[in-house]
Amino acid sequence: MSKKIYDAIVIGSGMSGGWAAKELCEKGMDTLLLERGRDVKHKEDYPTAFKNPWDFPHRNRMPRHVTEENPVVSRCYAFGEATEHFFVKDTEHPYIQEKPFDWIRGYQVGGKSLLWARQVQRWSKFEFEAPKRDGFAVDWPIRYDDIADWYSHVEKFIGISGNKDGLETLPDGEFLPPWEMNAMEKHIQASIQENYDDRHPIIGRCAHLTEPKEIHLQQGRGQCQARSLCERGCPFGGYFSSNSSTIPWAEKTNKLTLKTDAVVQSIIYDDEKGKVTGVRVIDRLTKETTDYFARVIFLNAATLNSNLILLNSKSERFPNGLGNDNGLLGKIAFHNYRGSMTATHSGFQDSYYYGRRPTAVMMPNFRNVYQHDKAFKGGYQVHFSATRKSWGRKVEGEQFGADFKENNSVPGDWSVYMMMQGETIPKEENHVRLSTDQEDEWGIPQLITSVDYDENDEILLNDFLTQGKEMLEKAGCTDININDSQQAPGLDIHVMGGARMGNNPDTSLLNKWNQLHACKNVFVTDGACMTSIGTQNPSLTFMAITARAANFAVAEMEKGNL
Ligand SMILES: Cc1cc2nc3c(=O)[nH]c(=O)nc-3n(C[C@H](O)[C@H](O)[C@H](O)COP(=O)(O)OP(=O)(O)OC[C@H]3O[C@@H](n4cnc5c(N)ncnc54)[C@H](O)[C@@H]3O)c2cc1C
Repeated sequence: MSKKIYDAIVIGSGMSGGWAAKELCEKGMDTLLLERGRDVKHKEDYPTAFKNPWDFPHRNRMPRHVTEENPVVSRCYAFGEATEHFFVKDTEHPYIQEKPFDWIRGYQVGGKSLLWARQVQRWSKFEFEAPKRDGFAVDWPIRYDDIADWYSHVEKFIGISGNKDGLETLPDGEFLPPWEMNAMEKHIQASIQENYDDRHPIIGRCAHLTEPKEIHLQQGRGQCQARSLCERGCPFGGYFSSNSSTIPWAEKTNKLTLKTDAVVQSIIYDDEKGKVTGVRVIDRLTKETTDYFARVIFLNAATLNSNLILLNSKSERFPNGLGNDNGLLGKIAFHNYRGSMTATHSGFQDSYYYGRRPTAVMMPNFRNVYQHDKAFKGGYQVHFSATRKSWGRKVEGEQFGADFKENNSVPGDWSVYMMMQGETIPKEENHVRLSTDQEDEWGIPQLITSVDYDENDEILLNDFLTQGKEMLEKAGCTDININDSQQAPGLDIHVMGGARMGNNPDTSLLNKWNQLHACKNVFVTDGACMTSIGTQNPSLTFMAITARAANFAVAEMEKGNL
């Protein structure tokens, strides 16, 4: 048992936990950051960052035995020989799939912030209003105006490249210079804008330093080199990760204690005091148990692990899990990534592009925005990009001699790729719960995932496939192949909910400040708090919600309310 009482304990050092630690430490709070994985120091612990393909034993491909032993994580596009050390292998941390579910995890300091694709968009007022208007989930207890300033606060610090596009469906933020679309992307953008009043493709906004400002230099970060090797960890600090930014910033305050290899088993509720007093931790390596104490707890273990920890935090007062008076804990939702398409365009033969780019074109949701007028609930965001076909493509005619050389001296037609990021509607059946008979290596119950698509998801998917094809046809694309990958939920990685925010304790777990309704000194500010899913990449919203809640917690502690 640790005797010390911290001001705050933050569980999980990933994207949202890093932000909780930064805000709390900056405000003078003595903060313990607990991370179940090993330490990953910025720069020092990116072993593959400067490797070339030929430096890898398998040329950056995975040997078959690894993919066969780890089918779930192998389905993630970013998992490879250069990045495998930042991913959880299926064999290391088993869970029980009642229905197929791909749980993609990163257990180390920085969590998945090392691995993310860095696409960031603010939610608009429409996402916060949709559940109430269209009758799903419960009403959000906050609106866009409650969080707009916190978006700015986060954006300025992490650095985001983008254009001020002036769209009501995608509010502008604090931007560094944008990346550029290539000629074909501009052509498709123009065609979509000409043909549809409600559709606005823009260059993707991403957490990259295209022109670092003083605040980024103070973090020791530099300009993005457009190497597109980001998931290996960026020694330049060109993209935002907790490792390069929030955690070292919190450390500089001398208020942070980072404890790695600390697997949080549960949050300790004191029945007599009527509040939480600390957390129980099992050492990853020695399996020793230690209790740590604090005035407030921030739960940021990523959606499913935060649900797991709450479900496993049982007491006389909370026999079904901490804060779970209404039995709604564990009901989750996710993004639907099943739809995509490829196409060819034979125009713009004289156009090419140079270098790499860490983003693509995106188009904010245009379905059920101003009113609910489609046969499904929710919407979808679209991402697309265009590239010239590779030099190694199959060319027509003789495959040797001068013709072959001649054919290969020019790049091929344009290839276009388009995909959807669809919203799923939270529903009772989609849930996670604890196994009653299977535990992990640390004696913690394994998580059972019981999550699936429904009819709404199928109709929404078909709408994207029809609309996407039509948009590409109108832009003059040919050979359009639409695809339903039928991938299991989870591979989208944007899993959210389970401890949703709401005004009513009967139908939600958290209040508008992310405090458990039933236990105010516990704040849940990762994806588990999300009342609905929206169509945007979610991490920016997790970070803004976390910063807002952390500042509220500090104010409440200063007033003596916590
Ligand atoms: C390949 C990939 C691409 C992505 N692309 C995007 C994108 O473009 N845009 C976007 O917005 N999001 C993207 N994401 C998702 C993004 O990474 C997550 O939304 C974000 O990291 C979630 O932050 P978090 O703090 O909730 O969780 P994490 O960053 O996963 O951090 C959780 C931390 O908690 C720790 N932890 C878990 N359980 C315990 C425990 N019991 N005790 C102690 N510590 C614990 C974990 O080890 C981890 O370090 C992507 C993710 C991946 C993997």
